[in-house]
Amino acid sequence: MVCLTGQPLSCVRANGASEFPAVGEFELIERFFARLGVSRADVTLGVGDDAALLVVPPQHELVACVDTLVQGLHFPATTRADDIGWRSLAVNLSDIAAMGATPAWATLALTLPTADEEWLESFSLGFDAMAKAHQVSLVGGDTTQGPLTVTVQVMGFLPSGTALRRSGAQVGDLLYVTGWPGDAAAGLALIEGRLSGQGAYRGALEHKFRRPEPRVAFGQRLRGVASACVDVSDGLAQDLGRLIGASGVGAVMRASELPLSQALFALAGERGARDFALGGGDDYELLFTVPPSRRAGLARAMATAGSPACHCIGEITEGRGIRLVSAAGDLSLPAGWDHFSV
Ligand code: ADP
Ligand code: MG
Repeated sequence: MVCLTGQPLSCVRANGASEFPAVGEFELIERFFARLGVSRADVTLGVGDDAALLVVPPQHELVACVDTLVQGLHFPATTRADDIGWRSLAVNLSDIAAMGATPAWATLALTLPTADEEWLESFSLGFDAMAKAHQVSLVGGDTTQGPLTVTVQVMGFLPSGTALRRSGAQVGDLLYVTGWPGDAAAGLALIEGRLSGQGAYRGALEHKFRRPEPRVAFGQRLRGVASACVDVSDGLAQDLGRLIGASGVGAVMRASELPLSQALFALAGERGARDFALGGGDDYELLFTVPPSRRAGLARAMATAGSPACHCIGEITEGRGIRLVSAAGDLSLPAGWDHFSV
């Protein structure tokens, strides 16, 4: 596309000096994006032509998702470029994981105020690390000038008919979540000064926000085991609301079974920790249901090397809403959840 302003991206140094020669879009793509991630045999044509050519294995379905990150909206303006690169791919890999699919290819649409070389180098390092960790190849994209916005599309595949959908939960299924929900939201609260704390706990929680680890391998192991699955990007309550909404069922969660990390508990207290887990976001954990008859399959998946911690937090019920039960009676869910109840 011809840019409306007709201006090439001007190139500036980190200190703002602008005597640097303007860098062409082609040179920029060649230097920073042409070889990100792994090279794959199923990429017939990658970065450089008008479009990429990709080979989906026979008897498989193509799985595609896209997410946009806007500075100031999805990450603080102070976020390091390598963390933005990592996150932009990680949040999409989490969607691929929630489908039970194998990721393979990504495209990157990058809108930048200026072609700051140091920023681009750092961004591409973060993106590359996440791409290599999951055998993803960057096969194309678009680069334009404007307010910092990063859009990443990830494509992958899975054997036809085996995708994990949100809509498969049945009454009586057990409800599980991976990892330690709430940690990332508390990490963001620490970064933004809404929560205080120092030392190792602070470091651990901030790291959870800065470097989300999508549960890609575990998602694939849940094929044939989970009846429904969603990734937790907006807090347990809201994402559970989406799963039960799609399935036409209700759910009960037991407050005592919520996996709250020691760091979260120490800095936020019991009530605060629960609120971060239920109403926070940015966890990129998997929330899924398993019929009781498939519990052995889940145990096998969990026993596989590298699988995340996984906790049963409740079960699927008749009706439509979410109940959070405790020994002292029902607890209220953080504001926003009831949007999904009937
Ligand atoms: P067109 O004008 O046909 O869209 P571009 O000049 O925008 O072509 O892009 C040239 C090539 O570089 C294309 O293969 C495109 O997919 C790739 N590309 C552009 N920007 C990026 C980016 N940020 N990351 C990866 N590939 C990119
Ligand atoms: Mg283009």
